[in-house]
Formats: sequence, structure tokens, C-alpha cells
Amino acid sequence: MKAKPANWSSARRLLKCLRDVMAEKGSAQERLDKIVCTIATEMVSEVCSIYVMRPGAILELFATEGLNPDAVHNTHLRVGEGLIGEIAQRRRPLSQSDAKAHPNFAYRPETGEDSYSSLLGVPLLRSDRVWGVLAIQNRTRRHYNREEQETLETIAMVVAELVAGGELLKPKDLRQIAGETTLPLRIEGVRFNHGLAMGQAVIHKPEVVVHRIIAEDPQHEGDRLIAAVDGMQSDLDAMLNAVDEGSAAEHRDILEAYRMFAADRGWLRKIDEAIKTGLTAEAAVERVRRDTRARMRQVHDPYIRERLQDLEDLANRLLRYLILEEPVQPEDLPDDAVVIARNMGPAELLDYDRNKLRALVLEEGSATAHVAIIARALDVPVVGRCPDILYQTEPGDLVIVDADHAQVFVRPTEFTHQSMTETIKLRDTARSSLANFTNLPPITKDGEKISILLNIGLLVDMDMLGRTCAEGVGLYRTEIPFMVRSAYPDVETQTELYRRIYEKADGRPVVFRLLDAGGDKRLPYWHDLHEENPAMGWRAVRISLDRPALLRQQIRALIRASEGRPLSILYPMIAEVAEFRAGRDLVDMEIERARAKGWPIPDPLSVGAMLEVPALVFQLPALLRHADFLAIGSNDLCQFLLASDRGNPRIASRYDPLSPSVLSVFHQVAQQCNAAHKPLSLCGEMAGQTLEAMALLGVGIKRLSMVPSAAGPVRAMVRSVNLSELTPYVERLLSAENHSLRGKLRDYAMDHNIVL
Ligand code: PEP
Ligand code: MG
Repeated sequence: MKAKPANWSSARRLLKCLRDVMAEKGSAQERLDKIVCTIATEMVSEVCSIYVMRPGAILELFATEGLNPDAVHNTHLRVGEGLIGEIAQRRRPLSQSDAKAHPNFAYRPETGEDSYSSLLGVPLLRSDRVWGVLAIQNRTRRHYNREEQETLETIAMVVAELVAGGELLKPKDLRQIAGETTLPLRIEGVRFNHGLAMGQAVIHKPEVVVHRIIAEDPQHEGDRLIAAVDGMQSDLDAMLNAVDEGSAAEHRDILEAYRMFAADRGWLRKIDEAIKTGLTAEAAVERVRRDTRARMRQVHDPYIRERLQDLEDLANRLLRYLILEEPVQPEDLPDDAVVIARNMGPAELLDYDRNKLRALVLEEGSATAHVAIIARALDVPVVGRCPDILYQTEPGDLVIVDADHAQVFVRPTEFTHQSMTETIKLRDTARSSLANFTNLPPITKDGEKISILLNIGLLVDMDMLGRTCAEGVGLYRTEIPFMVRSAYPDVETQTELYRRIYEKADGRPVVFRLLDAGGDKRLPYWHDLHEENPAMGWRAVRISLDRPALLRQQIRALIRASEGRPLSILYPMIAEVAEFRAGRDLVDMEIERARAKGWPIPDPLSVGAMLEVPALVFQLPALLRHADFLAIGSNDLCQFLLASDRGNPRIASRYDPLSPSVLSVFHQVAQQCNAAHKPLSLCGEMAGQTLEAMALLGVGIKRLSMVPSAAGPVRAMVRSVNLSELTPYVERLLSAENHSLRGKLRDYAMDHNIVL
């Protein structure tokens, strides 16, 4: 993925000429006229034109060399119309050797452009807003090369500054183009985490605007860059040293990654080369950042995109050292912050005060990105892939994030505002009435005790145990701390992390699931295999058993962290008894090793299996002879039982886990575990949905592990159920032929006053 080094020599020559033009006396229009002449001459083009954005997304021809001069201020194109409109809309350069053959070509007879074949155009971008388009044209069918495109992009920075500077357009027009729109907007995106919230827009790391583009003294700019990089690096070092034991280890890893990038020679060299063309240090950083951004748009590999994102963040940080602009301080955060970002790393989200953070909206991202995982753990609604939301939102705008319907309202209408406020109020009332249940034991009306456990992925979430009065952690996903790190954690690091989990659990039981990497859970430092079917590929225990050294390190860390206390280890994705036995043997070996070293041995030690692969259902009697407990991973088990990819939105609602077939499997498993006196829990998303949880009680599953936010509602449901009535009802339903039992179960709940 190495980019070809840029050749900046023609940009250097042109910038020098432009510096002279800018220094001359005259109006902005006169300068623009001279600029098009200069560019046309230097780039050996018959035509050079500048189109400037007008309010209403209209591009007006403001200056031209080569086209009919009468067309200036008379030729207009809508954004998206013609090739010029397309460049503005896509905010990307466009190069065509035969422009007329392009499907979007729009002919404007008044310009007299019919004799020109080729076109190279670039958007005039400033702080990511489009201010117009700069284009050159040639009579012959010319293929513009990469260097020419890069030169034009560099020149476009100077022109954009001139256009946005205020001399060409009326202040009112300028404000409108700058995005100070007041119109209500509804933007559709993709749901990354459910929920509904409202608050004031906070732009995450607003971009630093670069005003000085052309340098007076390149040597001085080089020195400024060195000083800024030094300053940034020593601040990063200081931050790293300041990360004390009490801070999340994830922060340290992100900072380490930044420090690594900050010292990246290739990146710094590109900035230095851009300075040598005659750009100021800040314009050079901005120039290189745009290249990174353009690459990011073309790359689909999430790992590489995340690394490019790191570089983008770093560029913004470096710009602040050069322009000396203070970032938003945490204390300036409003109490109801809706954070809007292009994308962000997991540690950056953790930097926001959790009590003030209402929702997160991203322009990019994916549901499996680290930040989405962290947001789910924090119970913050997230909508991602909202096109142009940054461009359309001003800090302080009222924003409603309706993640349940994957939509965001910016400056909502009075009607939307009122109806959403009502919905939020209703939810809050329901929530606070559930809070009254928190201290009440999860016992059914007929006296059956149900275990409410939590699914946890981050250390910070362990505090939820106390707040929800949960019995313990039914699923600690050990891969999440691995995923937010930049390097594989060694035994010491893992031991420390697990020790702190024990501390926070404060005597409550914790089930540690061994590394469930692979599939959609990528570890940034592991080579990606690009499998056809990653969910059914080399993942979870399959990786661990093929790399026993890594697995043994994790088990060793768990044994050491337990310090003689109870330890529950859970193997993910077990497909057959032999696999579980192989895993269990590795645990035994580590116990022997610990004994030989004189370390305290966990007491009791239980080793369980996750039931996620359907084949294991047919080996349950044998499995239950070897396993101490079983946990149904219904997210995976359902996707395999129904052959329905859990991450594919097209089929997301095609099958219902509340179908007679799926519930029958759970029922059989529960009966066999019961007969073998082996504890059974269920820790997929189903356990946290009240109606599903009720059905699970009905098939005999009495240990439910769920996201912390579900603990209250499920507890209320449990306390309103009579299990001795529900069980025979659900068992009768299992032989039904319906696609789903959802309707019948809901009716039952209504008829029996069950709180859902
Ligand atoms: C599951 O598959 O249900 C489960 C709990 O594991 P994960 O969601 O982490 O794959
Ligand atoms: Mg799973």
C-alpha cells in the first residue's frame, strides 16, 4: 500500500509565480484573472477556469483563460451537474482525456468549450468545505499525470483561501456557503448502537483552518515544522508517562501508536517535501493530510483505514502546534453532548466525560469498529455512515439521534423536537420506574431464583456490576482489551488486567471467555487472512488451539490473577468434544506448571464450553462429562442454526430466534444440562431483550447474561412472571409450525401482566 512519492517541482514553480501575483496590488477579481493566466501558461493548457460556489449550491464561472470571456459570471452549473458539478459534489479531482464522452458532460454553448477534449479539475477545498472548482482543459486528448493533478491540488489551496477570504463574495453569501445553514435536516445512516438521545452538537476535534498557504521563507517553515514535531512528540511522551496505573491500559496503547506515527519518517518526509515547494508548514501538513484522506476513501480494509485515520488525527494535532489553537477542553463540554466526528479511535471516545455524553454520530465507521464496540459498552446510541454530517452541523446545534431507526435530526423542526422529547420522557420514566427494582432480588412470582449476569468487555464497565446489582459477570469478552491495543499484550499485562477485573468484581463470580478473535473481531497486529467466510473460518478456539503458546499465556495470566480465588474459564466456538478436551488439557498443563512454581491454585477451577456450533448439541452427553458448565452463545448459535449471517442487514429480520426450532434446541440443551447437574447460561443478545428473556425462562434457562442496560428491564420481567405457568405454555408452543412464536408470547405476557 505504498504511495508513489510525489514530485513537487512544478508545484514549486507555480507557487512562486502565485506568490508574486498575490503580492501585487489590485482587487481579488483581478488576482483571480491573473491566476488563471499563470496556471494555463505553466501547465501548458489552453484553458484554465475557476468556478466559485454561490448560495444554493450553484457554481459560477468567475475567471477563465481560454473560454469565452463573456461567459464569466454568466455561466452557472448546479452542484452535481456536468463534470465541474461532479467534482464539487464528489469533492474529488477528475481527469478525463475525452471529456465529452463522460456520461455527466454538460455542454454550455456560451463558453465555447466545444473545441477542448481533455479536462482536469480539482475541488477548491478549505476546512473540508467546497468553495468552487479549478479546472484546466486541452484541445488534444491529453492524459494528465499524477504530478499535474497534485500540482493543481496544491494551487487549489491558494485559490480556495482567496475565495473564502471575503473579497470576492458578499459576507451573507460567504456565511451561507460556509455552512451556516439553519434549515432542519434529517440524515440517514447505519445503526451502530441502539437508543434515542438529544443534545447539543459537539464537533470532535474541529479541523484547524489553515489560512497562510504560501511561504515567505521555506527555510523558516522547515524550522517551524521541526519545532512543532518536537513539541508534539515530547507532549506525547509526557502523556504516556502520566498514564498511571489507574488509567485504562487502552489509553496507553493508543498513545503508543500515536508516538510511533509521529516519528514515521515517510510521513514527515512528505510534509517536508511539500514545504520545499513553497508552502507554509501548516499548508504542507494540510496538503499531506488531504492525500491521506483521498487514500482512505479508496481503501476498504478496515485495519489500513484505521491506521490512516490515526495519521489524520495526528495531522490535526500537529496543525494545532503550528497554529497554536487550543482544542476543546473537557470542562467546556455541554452537559448533553452529542459528539459528531468523521471517525474516532476507542480511546478518544473514552476521553469524553461519560456523564455528559448523550450520543455519537460518525460520518464513517462500521458497526464492528472499535469505537462502536466501546460505545455499546458505554451504552451510548451511535449512528454511523451519516454522509456530510460534519459539513452540515455547527457546534451547539440541537441534534436528535434516533439510533433505533438509524437517523439523525439536525436542528429539528418544532414538531420533531416535541415528539422526540415526549418519547425520550416516556423512556426515562420507564427506566426510572425500573430503577426501583434494582435492589429487589430477581425472583419469579412463584419463588424461582433467576441469575442476572452481565456481559462485559472493558474494565470501566465493571462498575456496572454494583449499579445494576447483578450477580456477577456471565461473559467477560477478553478479546476486547486485545482489540484496542496496538500490540499483543504479554503475560504480565494480561495478569494485571485480570487482577483488576477480580478487584472490581469484589467477590462476585466472573466467567472469563478465552480469546475469541477472528471473524469480525480483528486484532490490529495480526495478519489478516481474508477468508471467504470469516464467521466459519479460522477464529476463536480454532486459532487458540493452533497457537497453543498464546492460549497458554492467557490461561497462565488468569491463573496468576486469580491468586487462589475461584476461576471460571470459558472456551468459545467449541465444535466437538475432542476440541474441548484439547482445551481442557492445556488448562491442566498450566495448573501443573503453576503448582510446580508454587503459585496459588484457583479454587474452585471450572472450565466451560460455549455452545455456538450446532454439531455440539448432538454430543452433549459426552461434553457434559468433561465440561463444568455450558454457556449458549445465541448470537453465533442462531446464525449457524438458521444459516443466517448475523452481520448481514438484508437478512437480519428474516428469521426470528423466537422460532419453534431455535427454542426447541435451547429446551433440549436445558433439559440435558439439568439432568447432568451442570450450570447452563445464555449470553447472546437475546438474554437482554425482555420478551426473548421470558421465552428463555420458559424453556428452562435460568442464568441470563446481558448488556448492563438490560439488567433493569429483565429484572422487572422476571419479578412479574409465574414460571410454573409459563413453562408448560412455552413447552406446548414448541411443536407449533409458526414462523415465529413472538406474537403468541407477547399476547401471553399481556394477558399475564408480565412487564416487558
Ligand atoms: C454469542 O455468540 O452469542 C456470544 C456471546 O459471543 P460473541 O457475541 O462475542 O460472538
Ligand atoms: Mg460468539
